[in-house]
Amino acid sequence: MPFRDLLNKAVWAAIYLLFILAPLFALLAGRLPPSRDFGTEFSVAIGYSGLAMMGLQFGLTARFRYVTEPWGEDVIYHFHRRISLLAVGLVVTHPLILFAIGSNKLAMPESIRDVPWGARFAMLSICSLIALVVMALWRTKLRIRYEIWHLTHIVLAVVAVAAGMLHMAGWGFYLIDPWKRALWIGMTVFWIGLLLYVRIFKPLFMLRRPYRVAGLRTERGDTATLVMRPDGHPGFRFKPGQFGWLTLWGSPFRITGHPFSFSSSAEAADGRVEMTIRNLGDFTSAIPKVAVGQRVYLDGPYGAFTIGHPADMHVLIAGGIGITPMMSMILTLADRGDKRPLILLYGGKDWESLTFREELEAQKARLDLTIVYVLSNPPEGWTGERGRITADVFRRHLPPRYADHEYFICGPNVMMDAIEAALGQMQVPISKYHSERYSFV
Ligand SMILES: Cc1cc2nc3c(=O)[nH]c(=O)nc-3n(C[C@H](O)[C@H](O)[C@H](O)COP(=O)(O)OP(=O)(O)OC[C@H]3O[C@@H](n4cnc5c(N)ncnc54)[C@H](O)[C@@H]3O)c2cc1C
Repeated sequence: MPFRDLLNKAVWAAIYLLFILAPLFALLAGRLPPSRDFGTEFSVAIGYSGLAMMGLQFGLTARFRYVTEPWGEDVIYHFHRRISLLAVGLVVTHPLILFAIGSNKLAMPESIRDVPWGARFAMLSICSLIALVVMALWRTKLRIRYEIWHLTHIVLAVVAVAAGMLHMAGWGFYLIDPWKRALWIGMTVFWIGLLLYVRIFKPLFMLRRPYRVAGLRTERGDTATLVMRPDGHPGFRFKPGQFGWLTLWGSPFRITGHPFSFSSSAEAADGRVEMTIRNLGDFTSAIPKVAVGQRVYLDGPYGAFTIGHPADMHVLIAGGIGITPMMSMILTLADRGDKRPLILLYGGKDWESLTFREELEAQKARLDLTIVYVLSNPPEGWTGERGRITADVFRRHLPPRYADHEYFICGPNVMMDAIEAALGQMQVPISKYHSERYSFV
């Protein structure tokens, strides 16, 4: 990994830790309240840390390009999910410890009306967090539509963090110094700012930079390509392999945009971008109905899944609709006149539904491109590879110095897991392969 990338990662990781830990250590500076037993103090420390982590979740999902680029958006979302579990665990452990040590803070007053506000907010925060985790972990099992889940997720997160802050302010045990209060108020303002940035400022920016649908192409495999041109502005430049968030109907203030890789060449001079979209649900099934001339909004580019690393050759491994970022890489390399060998291993169900089949074959005239199709349901008389892409397929088609090539993998999760394992077996270092997962949730 280049030193600059490593340094970038280290700096952002340090900033993250600073945001999580600094407020906690700040509470221990300056004037301190009378000390209490270890259990109570430990439980309070855990509560503060959990809350700081929860608040910073708004930053992780704010899609700050410079923050997410060193890792890639999928890694950031993965981290967001994992660290949320830790944060919720800490917040829930806070009252559990108080229960365990029999703290008088949890003694129930005689009447519900006498329950202090601080405790009510604590209950509200914890219940919201539990609902949030249950819905995030079991959304598909609970059959909750993605859009409904997304909206509920944001509302529950805001309620959980706001109630947590109010609970903390309600007790205020450690916030005796005005500067400590100012620090936590500042943090809250920062979290609210992150939310405003994502939900108000960014959409306002996108509203002023709309795109128009310039064409719609039907592709093989129940798939369609949207061609979009910037309307009244130069558009953005993207790197091949990156993706953007598309809003087709309504304004950019809509809660849910849909992520799609760019499938066109990154060298297009007029800001034109294309996205190739497979019918997989309610949003994607409506793509063929999009009217040419329709106004759309694009937020991007995002992602670290891109060429540009020193390599003797590129090995692109695509499964199903995972071909879209590869198409962009192939077209871009062709437009750049890249002379290095390029191998595409393309797994699909059958010959007829291979998206971009003809376009890919056409690129052989412009590049040193070899395409290996691997079909799970090949037609009669098929002499090519069949089944799945495995280490054996690699050994049959790749030049043997496997660790010198640069690998790009995109496809269904099971396929990607298997390929990453196969590359591991072939002693390809992790820094030499790049993955783009099409499921953030
Ligand atoms: C980085 C990335 C790049 C992608 N590139 C492409 C591409 O080039 N071509 C393509 O056809 N598909 C791509 N996808 C997948 C595509 O985003 C989903 O198939 C699409 O959003 C499904 O929407 P739906 O409403 O039609 O289906 P639904 O039935 O609502 O959703 C199917 C599944 O897709 C996921 N999903 C739905 N909406 C979203 C959303 N707004 N954000 C994130 N995940 C969502 C959920 O896991 C959901 O269970 C990409 C996904 C990611 C994360």
